[in-house]
Order: sequence, then structure tokens, then C-alpha cells
Amino acid sequence: MKILVANLGSTSFKFRLFEMGEDEESQLAEGGYERISDHGEAIRDALVSLENDGVASPGEIEAVGFKTVLGRGLSGCVEAGDEVIEALEGFADVAPAHNPAYADGIRQFREILPEARRVALFETAFYQWVPEAGRRYAIPQAWYDVGIRRHGFHGASHKFIAERSAEMLGRPDVAKLVRGLYQEGPQKLERPLRVISCHLGGSSSVTGIRNGLAIGTSMGFSPQSGVPQNNRVGDLDAGALPYAAKALGLTIEEASQQLSSESGLLGLSGVGNDMRDVRSAALEGNPEAQIAVEIFVHEVRRWASSMLFELGGLEAFVFTAGIGENNPWLRAAVCEGLEGLGIVLDTDRNEVAGGGEAKVSGEESPVQILVIPANEELVLAREVYQKVTNLN
Ligand code: ADP
Repeated sequence: MKILVANLGSTSFKFRLFEMGEDEESQLAEGGYERISDHGEAIRDALVSLENDGVASPGEIEAVGFKTVLGRGLSGCVEAGDEVIEALEGFADVAPAHNPAYADGIRQFREILPEARRVALFETAFYQWVPEAGRRYAIPQAWYDVGIRRHGFHGASHKFIAERSAEMLGRPDVAKLVRGLYQEGPQKLERPLRVISCHLGGSSSVTGIRNGLAIGTSMGFSPQSGVPQNNRVGDLDAGALPYAAKALGLTIEEASQQLSSESGLLGLSGVGNDMRDVRSAALEGNPEAQIAVEIFVHEVRRWASSMLFELGGLEAFVFTAGIGENNPWLRAAVCEGLEGLGIVLDTDRNEVAGGGEAKVSGEESPVQILVIPANEELVLAREVYQKVTNLN
């Protein structure tokens, strides 16, 4: 079954085409368009290229998967129809860079490829079994009723880590559970497997996973929370926004805009929103860049430690995504001084890791420290395949 995975931003459209079957998983093509003003035009162009290149005719694409961020009142892996569009639009202000784009993309695909199934996998789906205490804020009921809760993000990435780390640790039972989680639901397992997954990239989150199920995560209501992001703030006291607006003579909208595009690594360092640039400036002695790096590491550790208490122990500590996979110095900084907790990095292994899977802990380390490349699109393709197979 040919499945197109669509990744939509306000001015971008990226895609990957997969061939999926019971015993087959392969990527046939990938491509993307930046700085576009019309998703429909880019989608049509991509389909023409796929056909001209002999990869697939539009009629051969049986399903399209959407990595939707969050929807009001809706999560999971679901058919992408009007209900999904409505849920995305209901939270358009919470994820302004993504929700309107996905709502538009789903409409466009409905028109352009009407025969293909459309499936949305919400980034919040992996958190549907987080215990209620970990999902709610201490807010008035009316706030809760309009949808304010800890949603969690990067669900596809952390789910991939849950499955792959279980395989790497010799726990096929957990890997199998994770693979079928959205179809079969959770199951009880005798032996625990506890994992902390650090997805550190353009945006970052730290998730605790027990027996394949998320028990909590650093991202809360919006992608503006948790660990500092490339240009988004991360956690901030709710009292700071109205105070800053007044003190700086900004409207709440202007202040929010600064938190979502002029904060994070960019706002702290003044250098840029890419960790490579921030790190080089820090090494050259730029004090703002140095503190940006320190805060990032501090926040990753703060969230990982909170997951550790909740899990009550740990078998694997995993780094994934652009920052987590490619920066030995960052892994060393996050793991520094944790030997007493059983987290013992092997300096040599850590230095050479990157570009693939690796174990970077020492042989004597009770906790395995792993580097696992992120593979969110594959998770999408797998979930869409399962969903469509169940629907047929
Ligand atoms: P996104 O979240 O946008 O998909 P990535 O997961 O690629 O992005 O993460 C982007 C971050 O990863 C950037 O801050 C960048 O500095 C870092 N990064 C990506 N590739 C490398 C690399 N080869 N070496 C060091 N850092 C990298």
C-alpha cells in the first residue's frame, strides 16, 4: 500500500512516500517545498513529479497521513475528516504555525486525491494513558472545560523511541505492545521497562515511558512549554505574561508573539535559533550564548529528573532528534554527575556516536544510555497502514 506522509507548515509542504505491507516497509520518495503561499499548488506539483519520475501515479496512493499537532477535544489516530478539521481550527491559536496549515492540507488532499484515505495521527496521541494527575493543571473547572490541560507533543517520536529502545534492550514483548498500542490499547507486563526519552531538536521534549506507555512529559498545554525551544519560550510562570505586557507596553498578543518567536535559544543567545550557532558562539566566549546552553541543559535535566522519580527507576536513557543525536558535548553535560543514579556515560563511545544508533553508556552502567535517530515519518506510515487496514 502506497502511503504519503504529509508534513505541513504555514509556508511549507514536505512529504515522504512509503510502500507499506505486512512484511514490507520502504520509503519510495521524499520531497518538499518551502516559502509557498498555496499548499494546493505544492501538493499538485509533488504528485505530478511523483508520476513523472515513475514512482507512483496519484491513483496508486491509497492513503495520506497527517502528523497533526493538537486538536480541541480530539486525539489519537483517526480518520481525517471534518471532525479533525474542526478540532484543529478550535486550537488554531495554540499552534498557529501548524494547525491552520494542517486543516488546509487535509481539505486540499480531499479535493486533489478524493479516493485516498486520510488519517491524522495527533502528536498528543501517545499521552492518552498518562495518569490524570500528570495531565491536569490546578486551574478552575471552566478552564479545564475549554481544553486547558497538559497535552504533550512529539508523540510519534517518543513512541518510536519506546518501541526501538525496547528492541535494543531485548524486550520484544514491550516493542510489540508499543507497535499495536493505538489498536489494542495498553496491556499489563510482569517485568518493568522504564525509559526516559529526550527528543532534543528544533523543538524539544522529555518523556517518561513505562512498559511502552508515557507516564508524563515536559510539554504541556501548548508547544510553548517545557524545555526551551529554538525560538519558543519553554516553561514560564503564568504571572509573567500579563506583567511583561504591562511593563513593556505590549498587548497580550504582542507579548505572546515574542514568547513564541523571539524566545528560547534565539531570545537567550541573540545569536540564532540553531544550537550549532549558539554552541560555537558559547565556545568563542559569548556570555549570552553560554547561558543559553546552560539553561537548555539545566531544563533537560530538570525534566528528566522529574520523570525518574515518577518511574521509580530506569533501564534506558535515550537521546534523539537533531540536538540529541549529533552533539556528544550535550549528552555529556546532561549526564554529568549522574553516576550515583546508575547513569554512566562512556566518554569514548559518546564522542564517536552520531549518524546512527549507538549505546553510549559504559559496560558497568546499570542504565543504558542510547542514541536513536528520530523516525517520526515511519511511525506515521505504520499507524496509517494499521488504521486503513482496520477500516477496510
Ligand atoms: P526539527 O526539530 O526542526 O526537525 P532537528 O531535529 O533536525 O529539527 O533539530 C534541529 C537542531 O539540531 C538544531 O538546533 C541543530 O543545531 C541541531 N543539529 C542538527 N544537525 C546537527 C549536526 N549535524 N550537528 C550538530 N547539531 C545538529
